[in-house]
This record gives sequence, structure tokens and C-alpha cells, in this order.
Amino acid sequence: MKTPVPDYLQHVLAACDQNHKGALADYIPELAQADPNKLALALSTVDGTIYSTGDDEVEFTIQSMSKPFAYALAIRHHGLDVVLKKVGVEPSGEAFNQIALDKNTNLPKNPMINSGAITTHALLPHQDGISRAEKLRQFLSELAGRELSFDDAVYASEVKTAFRNMSIGYMLRTVGALDEEPEQIVHGYIQQCAIKVTVKDLAKMTSVLANGGVQAETGKRILSRAVVRQVLSVMMTCGMYDAAGDWLSTVGIPAKSGVAGGIMGVLPGQVGIAVFSPKLDEHGNSVRGVEIFERLSKDMGLHLMEGTPSAQTIVQRRYTCGVDNQVVVYELRGVLQFTESEMLLRILQNEAVEPTQIVLDLTNISLIHDVGERMLFEGVDRLIADGHDVVVIDSEQILQQGRSHAGHDVVRHEELEQYLQHFA
Ligand code: GLN
Repeated sequence: MKTPVPDYLQHVLAACDQNHKGALADYIPELAQADPNKLALALSTVDGTIYSTGDDEVEFTIQSMSKPFAYALAIRHHGLDVVLKKVGVEPSGEAFNQIALDKNTNLPKNPMINSGAITTHALLPHQDGISRAEKLRQFLSELAGRELSFDDAVYASEVKTAFRNMSIGYMLRTVGALDEEPEQIVHGYIQQCAIKVTVKDLAKMTSVLANGGVQAETGKRILSRAVVRQVLSVMMTCGMYDAAGDWLSTVGIPAKSGVAGGIMGVLPGQVGIAVFSPKLDEHGNSVRGVEIFERLSKDMGLHLMEGTPSAQTIVQRRYTCGVDNQVVVYELRGVLQFTESEMLLRILQNEAVEPTQIVLDLTNISLIHDVGERMLFEGVDRLIADGHDVVVIDSEQILQQGRSHAGHDVVRHEELEQYLQHFA
């Protein structure tokens, strides 16, 4: 059998192909040369599978879709508190290149509009000989799993006409948001926007965000959960500029657009999506890109506000074994967050208060949230206090604290048999 997902994606592209509305971004002369007919779509799952269709090998500049990643890198480098002292998190409701600051704080409103992104660029790590834009290029290359490069022509073209961004730079310098010469920072920001990507690269990059900061292919944690949460929150409220409210209600996927015609979206725990089509609407968002996202969200039920599944049954099976059936095994399945943990603890509460051997098997748990882990071990402590002997099986090593759970027996599956022999 061949999975129908690629056919479905092709079908969505074909349906949007006839939409010729919008205009190329002409304030950057080089972008006005783009082929307006290009159209591509890629979708990634959290396990790293990529589906793509259309002009999925065509490179275009990342533009403002670099902003969430620069924000992530700045937070990873300085910590959130430092970054929040320089850039706010309030939607501006204004155009992306508005020359304005927050009236109360005198800071850029958020990192998705240009004033906030230029300030964020200045917070990127750099060292002698390696510029901030180069650091970001390296970071994006790691996320994309291939070496990305700069589009020098787009960079040069935007630098020549960067009057507005330069005004923003001088405004930021005036209020102390920038400590360095604005020209260098604005040029660096423009170079960050000129990194070339395909929709497949973007899909890989977004899959790391969808997967809570872990790159599925390498198993490497690239960003902490807290950083990813911050980035996605800001994308949700500010990523689509003055169309953010409309986007949230119709599409409901944290997203970011770029003036070269890309839009990327991240549905936490589910998918990353990237589209490319150069003609833009009045907000600077790709016209066909928006239409594709609207269709995908509707057809696949991807709206964040409806996507959260209600708690699943967490105990897949409870059985007893050992000579006198004195060992009770709970096979758990699914995701262990607050709701599921509460459900599990309620079930465990029914265990009679008499010494038994209880085994909690996490082998089929696909994800355990911090709160799930804490609640699980709180339950274990209480079972022990009731006189039970408890062992937790963590074959897939999903427990964040692993075997370091003081005083608790956490074993692998292969060790379980050996363990159970004590009771045979
Ligand atoms: N480089 C572009 C600019 O600063 C990025 C804007 C965008 O993609 N919305 O104008």
C-alpha cells in the first residue's frame, strides 16, 4: 500500500494553483524578479518524516521566517529574562515594518516585527570572524540537516533600499535598545533574512519545534521545551503581523510568514508545515500560502483549539502474575500529561492497601510531560507508603530524570523478567 498523504497534498496544491491574486514584494528589487507561479508544500511529522510536493527543490530567501529561530537562539544564548528586557511579547496589530515602539516600555513590541527582530539580531551569539548572521546560518543548517547558504543578490538588493529598516535601527539606537552602530546590526539582520531554504528545509526545521526541541533523526535536543514554548507562543500571537487574529481564528496554527512568499507553521506534537508561493497579500503574507494553510487546517482538523485530544485511556491493561498472583502489572499507553496522570492516580487509588508488588510499565508511553513524571512518582511514593513494593519500567528511557529517581526502582524491560523471578 502507498500512503495517500502525498496525493492529498498534491490535491491541495492543485486546488490553490488557480489563485493569482496578490503581488510580489517589490520594495526589495530582487524579490520582484521572482517567478510568481512557483508553488510548493511540505509537511513533516514529529518523527522526522517529510512529505513534499510542487516546487519543493526551489530555494527562496527565508526572510521573516528567520525571526522565530533567531529569537530561539538569542534565548538559548542569554536566557529569557535578558531577552525580555530588550523585546516584548505583545502583538502590535501593525504592519511588520512599522516604525514604532511600545508606548509604556519604549521597547519593540515583539520579536516578529522588524523593530523586535533587529533588536533580537543584536542578541545573537557571535565571535571574532563569525558574524551573528553566520551563527544563525549554522544553526538553521543544523535544523535543516544540510548546509544552507546566503543569497548574496537578495542581500545586496535589500541593503541598497533598506531606508525603512535603517530608520528603525536609528530609532532603536536612540532609545538604547541597540548598543552598537545601527548600520552594522541592520545589515546583519538583512543577511539573516537572505538565507536560502526550500519548503523541505523549512519542514525539517519546524518539525524540531513541533517535537518540543528534539531533532527526530539525530535524537538530539537542540532547544529546551521552555524555549520552544516561548517561540511558538510568540508565533501564535504575532507571527502573522496585523492578520494574527484572523489567522488564529481561521487557521489556528502558530506560524510565521516571510516576504519571499514562504509561510511555516508548527502544530505542537503533531506536524510542521511549510508553503511557498511568492505573491503576497496586503499584510505581506503569501496569498496562496494562506489558502493552503486554511485548507489543511480545515481538512485535517489541525486547528490548535480543536486539536487537543481529550485524555486517552491511560491504562491499556492491568494483569496479575507471580505464584499467588501477587504481582500487579499496569501497562500504560499514550501521553502522560496532567489529565492522564490524574486519571492514572485515580485508578491506582483503587489498589487495596495490602502489600503487593506493583509494576508500572511505561514501554508504550510515547511522551511524558514534566508534570506527568512528577505526578507518577508522587503516586509511586504513596503506593510505597501504603506498603506496596513498586517498580517502574522505562525501557525507552522517556523519563527525564531516568534512573536518578532517588529511592525508586526504575528498570528496563529486559530486566523485568529477572526482577519478577523473585516472585516466581
Ligand atoms: N527582510 C525583510 C524586511 O526586513 C523581511 C520582512 C518580512 O519577511 N516580512 O523587510
